[in-house]
Amino acid sequence: MRQIDHFLNGAAVAATSGRKSDVFDPNTGEVQAQVGLASEADVDQAVALAASVQPEWAALNPQRRARVMFEFKRLIERDMNKLAHALSAEHGKVIADAKGDVQRGLEVIEFVCAIPHLLKGEYTEGAGPGIDVFSMRQPLGVVAGITPFNFPAMIPLWMCGPALATGNAFILKPSERDPSVPVMLAELFIEAGGPAGLFNVVHGDKAAVDAVLDHPRIKAVSFVGSSDIANYVYQRGAQAGKRMQCMGGAKNHGIVLPDADFDQVVSDILGAAYGSAGERCMALPVVVPVGDKTADELRARLIDGIAGLKVGISTDEAAHYGPVVTAQHKARIESYIQMGVDEGAELVVDGRGFSLQGYENGNFLAPTLFDRVTPEMRSYQEEIFGPVLQIVRAHDVDEAIALATNHAYGNGVAMFTRNGAAARNFAAKVEVGMVGINVPIPVPVAYHSFGGWKRSGFGDLNQYGMDGVRFYTRTKTVTQRWPSTSGDVVDQSFVIPTMK
Ligand code: NAD
Repeated sequence: MRQIDHFLNGAAVAATSGRKSDVFDPNTGEVQAQVGLASEADVDQAVALAASVQPEWAALNPQRRARVMFEFKRLIERDMNKLAHALSAEHGKVIADAKGDVQRGLEVIEFVCAIPHLLKGEYTEGAGPGIDVFSMRQPLGVVAGITPFNFPAMIPLWMCGPALATGNAFILKPSERDPSVPVMLAELFIEAGGPAGLFNVVHGDKAAVDAVLDHPRIKAVSFVGSSDIANYVYQRGAQAGKRMQCMGGAKNHGIVLPDADFDQVVSDILGAAYGSAGERCMALPVVVPVGDKTADELRARLIDGIAGLKVGISTDEAAHYGPVVTAQHKARIESYIQMGVDEGAELVVDGRGFSLQGYENGNFLAPTLFDRVTPEMRSYQEEIFGPVLQIVRAHDVDEAIALATNHAYGNGVAMFTRNGAAARNFAAKVEVGMVGINVPIPVPVAYHSFGGWKRSGFGDLNQYGMDGVRFYTRTKTVTQRWPSTSGDVVDQSFVIPTMK
């Protein structure tokens, strides 16, 4: 059995807890490896190593850190195929999608190659008589990231890029369900010239997460995962005095107005609802057609579109999507489908009971479509995270926007229309963090930043972009005055200084 170890000080190191977790092959349902789970002592060791090399890394001029990032980017590009195959083998997403996972993370590394520019502070000459004010951004020290299973390359790269480029040491606690790619990324960072010990990977479950959250030398933690855990991690980390950013789950709505380009909409919704088997926090699992005519036409076209989708093993180039991550997750999705039926939603296409010849024990689910889903239903309120699309009919555009606004989650939302004024009004009013207009998956590019609202995000600063640079640095502001050459002495004052 293949063992997956921690990556500490540039080398594989076995976990000391004696506890292990199975890593499955989602195509076959078989165990393909075991990952060692960290004890508190393992986390402690990772932090001690990180803390010992971080000051020297932080003292490098930012251009030299940027050069390591340039090389890191080159090595990820060199290994794109290898990373995508390893990712697909543990996650189950198809290879083209796995490459997209790596690519979207790589773009954050491209962004932080500009770190000398991004770290520049502000300067005011003559803020008062002979007084100048300037600010600088300094790294926090040792910081950590805790990541979910569904983007094992992109999300670690969202975090390690800005954390390392700004001069911190970074400890990654990736998902124990697909732990190989995060280790491969840390190895590439060392190959790129990063010092051993600066980027360590500790695998684990709640025990490892708690050890990270409680560790006094870890100054900030970035988390991405489901909302209840995000909230727990946020509170425990904040209680321990850390800077926290915790992204949670989602239930994104796609609003379709009657004037939308239906060919495009159907193609966009099929991809966004079923791509990666729906295991994306920016998937579009809810579609809200405005008016019954729009709903009826959309429903008919979605049924046709679904009939053309191919579910296959993750290396099948013709497959639109592959298996879900584990048998346990598959059972959870199936239970939500049953819940929808029990709650009275209309099951238009049932994806359960699908079997792929030769892979009968794989975690496959065909696409499911529900119509006449209503806001009172639990299957609407909760995140399903599978290839299940729910149609919620709205009478008018205000009702459609209110659905997204009133939902507990607020990660992403999209509107499909040719009406600019309606789209503009929607973007201004909807209470959701990331908005698409005729764009089904509005994941912001690497030089903007990513973050949801309400139950989709706890903490304040977003992932990557300038928010990423801000999250991993603290601002120091210097107010300076130099002795005057004339020898004049500034009058003593017992009043709070003002610039009047
Ligand atoms: P998860 O919450 O189960 O796990 C996320 C991380 O938390 C993992 O590293 C896991 O080991 C750890 N963890 C799990 N249980 C824990 C516990 N009880 N205490 C402490 N730590 C624990 O999430 P997942 O299933 O790996 O990922 C899917 C979820 O992530 C979905 O809800 C999805 O919407 C969300 N997600 C959100 C975003 C975003 O940016 N908002 C992006 C991707 C995924």
